[in-house]
Amino acid sequence: MPSAIKDHTAVEKSEDLPSILSKKFNISDVKQDALKWNKEWEAAIASSTAADVLKEISHFLDDSFFTPDDIEFFHQDLRRVQDHVAEILRSLFNEGHFDTIWLLLNAAEQRRHILEGLKGASEAPTLWGQDCRALCPEVTVSNFLTQGGKSFVDFLTRVLEISESSTKPAFLPNSWWEQASNLPNPWWGQASDVSPRKQVSQSTKVLFEVATINRNKFIAHFVMSSALSIVGDITNRSEGMKGALHIMENTEGYIARSLAGVKTTLRDKPLIRCENCTKTPEDIGQGVRFMVCSVCKTKLKFEVHYCSQSCQKQDWSLHKQACGKKPVSKGLSGTKGDSLWAFGDSNPAVDMIRNLGKKKGHHLTSLRDVGVNPCKGKRSPAAERQAEMLEADRNVDYFLFTASGETVRFVIDDPGAKMVFRINRGVIMMQTGDTGLDAMGEYMLKVMSGYPGLSRDIIL
Ligand SMILES: [Zn+2]
Ligand SMILES: [Zn+2]
Repeated sequence: MPSAIKDHTAVEKSEDLPSILSKKFNISDVKQDALKWNKEWEAAIASSTAADVLKEISHFLDDSFFTPDDIEFFHQDLRRVQDHVAEILRSLFNEGHFDTIWLLLNAAEQRRHILEGLKGASEAPTLWGQDCRALCPEVTVSNFLTQGGKSFVDFLTRVLEISESSTKPAFLPNSWWEQASNLPNPWWGQASDVSPRKQVSQSTKVLFEVATINRNKFIAHFVMSSALSIVGDITNRSEGMKGALHIMENTEGYIARSLAGVKTTLRDKPLIRCENCTKTPEDIGQGVRFMVCSVCKTKLKFEVHYCSQSCQKQDWSLHKQACGKKPVSKGLSGTKGDSLWAFGDSNPAVDMIRNLGKKKGHHLTSLRDVGVNPCKGKRSPAAERQAEMLEADRNVDYFLFTASGETVRFVIDDPGAKMVFRINRGVIMMQTGDTGLDAMGEYMLKVMSGYPGLSRDIIL
């Protein structure tokens, strides 16, 4: 038995083991550029198997390297970290609003916190330091940013559930990684020449377990570091956090929660649909290559998509009217020509907006068209005036008035915020009382805080 392993502190220092994995996969240093480092690992993992990773590790370590005592120590050590993580996550979720605040952050801020998590995990005392990233395919920036960041909240929830389900060390399931658990006898014969140990082992069972422990330790430190980065920003009211906190604190979570909910369903980019059959490339399946109308593309720099030549032919009688002359498309749902493209198809609020338009007998194509609902009774004179002004100027989300009677147009740019605001506005304007107006007023007050002479009294 090698003596170095007896000293657990030595094992915990990653410098003791060469950075075999980052060398093998040609990965840069996390300290230089964490985002680049993360991308490189994403690509490396996507083109490798867990067996490839374990094989590299096995050039330097094998099962005989670890005693049962070592494994027991690793288990206890992991559980200690996981207890701490569970504690942090529990208090984070109990504080309430954590997920709402997180979802309200913009993508750049979310990315920054996730990178802080990755840097923290890379510095944690694991066997392979930053190279432990190779064992964690699910811990990636792009994964966590999907659905407006909801994937990250889901991941934390899962980590907490698994950590709290037992008092034993928790191993987060992952099918990619687990494929390495049932490998046949390893590849010692192929071990590279640089290997300092040429011991022959019959199994990688223990090595796989040690790697799994380190994988989970890296994940635990990632969760801890990213959570602390977020909490730190909340406590210090950092620049990036201010907007989210303002909305939270000044709307009693009402508008904030709706906003956060909307964000999780927003699309990152418009869909491509065949102008004729309306199918997307995903609908049709692998290998299909969509074409664009070349006349519109060259003359107007405008893209009209078709899935096939036959669809282009079928659509020609319609398209020829505008082809090359005007950038016109049918504005199919979710495509660039649909001003509500960012909102997913299964979003009930968007369905509501689209249906509102249909009921009125005209096609509703933008948030601008979300007007003021008719009132069930008689509005106050002020509310009636507001409703009239809003119907007359569809670009305005709300009219405010300064003390001297000047009109201030309140307009929201962000489509998610605009939609939530307008839906709430519709509900509020339907009623005779002023229920809900204070929440809306508080929101406007915050958004307009830079406007001179505007005060709470004027808005509410
Ligand atoms: Zn088609
Ligand atoms: Zn054309």
